[in-house]
Amino acid sequence: MNIHEYQAKEILNAYGIPIPRGRVALTADQVERAAKEMGGRCVVKAQIYAGGRGKAGGVKLIHHPEQAQEYAKELFGKTLVTPQTGPEGLKVRRILVEEAVDIAREFYLSITLDRSSSRYVLIASAEGGMEIEEVASKTPEKIHTLTIDPFTGLRSYQARWIALQLGLSGSVCEDCVNLILNLYRVCLEKDCALVEINPLVVTRAGWLMAMDAKITFDDNAIFRHREYPDMMDYSQLDPLEINAGKYDLAYIKLSGSIGCLVNGAGLAMATLDVLKEYGGEPANFLDVGGGATREKVAEAFKIILQDADVKGIFVNIFGGIMRCDVIAHGIIEAAGEVNCTLPIVVRMDGSQVEEGKRLLTESGLNVQCSDNLGDAASKIVGMLG
Ligand code: ADP
Ligand code: MG
Repeated sequence: MNIHEYQAKEILNAYGIPIPRGRVALTADQVERAAKEMGGRCVVKAQIYAGGRGKAGGVKLIHHPEQAQEYAKELFGKTLVTPQTGPEGLKVRRILVEEAVDIAREFYLSITLDRSSSRYVLIASAEGGMEIEEVASKTPEKIHTLTIDPFTGLRSYQARWIALQLGLSGSVCEDCVNLILNLYRVCLEKDCALVEINPLVVTRAGWLMAMDAKITFDDNAIFRHREYPDMMDYSQLDPLEINAGKYDLAYIKLSGSIGCLVNGAGLAMATLDVLKEYGGEPANFLDVGGGATREKVAEAFKIILQDADVKGIFVNIFGGIMRCDVIAHGIIEAAGEVNCTLPIVVRMDGSQVEEGKRLLTESGLNVQCSDNLGDAASKIVGMLG
């Protein structure tokens, strides 16, 4: 789960990490008033669930409150496209107005989960800011990483090593050590998958400050934090993803033309692999989980059909906990309700498989059944030609 920059900064600040003075606004008038409060000179920042805003025109240094209002009018409702949003972009509905800080140096600092070592890893670079992707690809030696042992935690000497790698010395170096240790506390206590400060800056006056912040919470830990669901900004999510969430289904949008309905994440991965092997391009996948009901399968099917890119549907289900006839009923119900004429290939196995197949074949839908995954994949790819 993602949150906005201003929310991430509030969390960092609660852990003693300095942030610029700021105010979040929902209208252009509020932006103007906030700009006045900052004394006229300020930075106006679009709040979207993606970075790369600076280069896309979503962050601007402002000199007068009127200029802030004008720029805000332009930004509100605008769709910002950055390298992190994908081509469809994200709409701006909230704006952060911040004091303009005189920056002397910009660093990169983050803690994220490293799946291969199953540990948090601290990443830092003295060359932070908007060019960080370029630094990472052209001069990876300028990026320092440190894997954190969960048993001993992050030690202050390790944090100091990072601060020294950033080229800091004296009291700023000690401030940075504390900041890094606090960032690790944020990660643990807030169950983060990522906490990123880019740029972390040293101001001209010599203070450390988080000038941008991104936090991603671990979805599996949301139940431990009652306040998280209220922090969510639904305007930033794909409506189909929200819909799937309501029915406790996992929906992932992809770029091809075959909609995939599967049960279980492992089977979903295998299905995508096999489809690709046969030259198919998945448009999405929807995981209905273990013990789905007929209604759940029907909702899942409807969600897949709402994706305009879907030209054919591939169902790959193992009926263990879930019976194949229940799945068939769900598919028939949903397809009938929305008058689906798209080709459907169903590969299922397990309890009540014969009954499931019979129901589908007699349904009058444009459906083919198959016992074999490779055969099923080649069928759907063939039907889409
Ligand atoms: P993004 O990472 O999405 O491009 P940032 O919040 O990092 O957005 O802003 C882009 C750049 O704008 C920063 O690297 C920094 O140089 C500058 N900037 C951001 N906020 C401020 C601020 N309050 N005062 C001065 N400069 C800022
Ligand atoms: Mg940034």
